[in-house]
Amino acid sequence: MPELPEVETIRIKLKNYLEGKRLIGIDIKDNKIIDGDVKKILQHKITDVKRFGKGLVFQFDNNIALATHIKLTGQFIYRGPENKDINVDSKLVGRLPSKFTRVIFQFNDKSTLFFNDIRKFAWMKIVPTQQLNSLSFFKQLGPEPFKDLTFEYFKHIITTSNSAIKSLIMNQKKIAGIGNIYANDALFLAKIHPQRKAKTLTDEEIKKLYDSIFFVLKKGLENNGATEMNYVNPDGQPGNYQKHFLVYGKEGKPCPVCHTLIKKIKVGGRGTYFCPKCQK
Ligand SMILES: [Zn+2]
Repeated sequence: MPELPEVETIRIKLKNYLEGKRLIGIDIKDNKIIDGDVKKILQHKITDVKRFGKGLVFQFDNNIALATHIKLTGQFIYRGPENKDINVDSKLVGRLPSKFTRVIFQFNDKSTLFFNDIRKFAWMKIVPTQQLNSLSFFKQLGPEPFKDLTFEYFKHIITTSNSAIKSLIMNQKKIAGIGNIYANDALFLAKIHPQRKAKTLTDEEIKKLYDSIFFVLKKGLENNGATEMNYVNPDGQPGNYQKHFLVYGKEGKPCPVCHTLIKKIKVGGRGTYFCPKCQK
């Protein structure tokens, strides 16, 4: 699932392309995806695009917001004058619209935003901006890196938890934005076994893990995210972080530090990769 670096990459491009544009048409191919009255956003301008954890919010000029979560396979693809010279990746996106296009947004400058979703887990909700915080997704979201995740809070949740450390850092209610890819790589960098009980981490390990999380997320952002399934940015282009995975997805390959073969196990039901020698 796209994580903080992927969703932030999408946000930056969408804000750049859509800010100040008026929504003049909306074609909903799949009614189940949108909750709320689309008439409330029609003919209104987008004033901002924000991100909360792995969620996105399109803010309109009448204090109405469209909140969305792209989940596993959602793609926002923008076609307009700003990116007309960039061809979308044909393997990851295909023709536009495609049979996976669920919503088409049209703007006053003839630009178009397509929303595709193969697996159909994504959602969109139209609500007054003041009510965003009452949506269960936003209400339950923990603090996030680069925003309000302090070291004191991070240390507190670790020293008071009996969960496996990997499950804890992926729990969106405790920390927002970290998913399976960046959790695996951050634990590798910090030399911590993913199954360790959180409260057994030493102060030194907690500090190392905190720094490692920021390091891998930054690396992800610099590479415009990771394309694992079908993640693309709004230009329809893949990310590059998958070329820099440390252990994620590397079962049976040599550890980049000690060359021991990377192992795969399940932690909290999720595929987990680690070096049995480096990570204790
Ligand atoms: Zn190793």
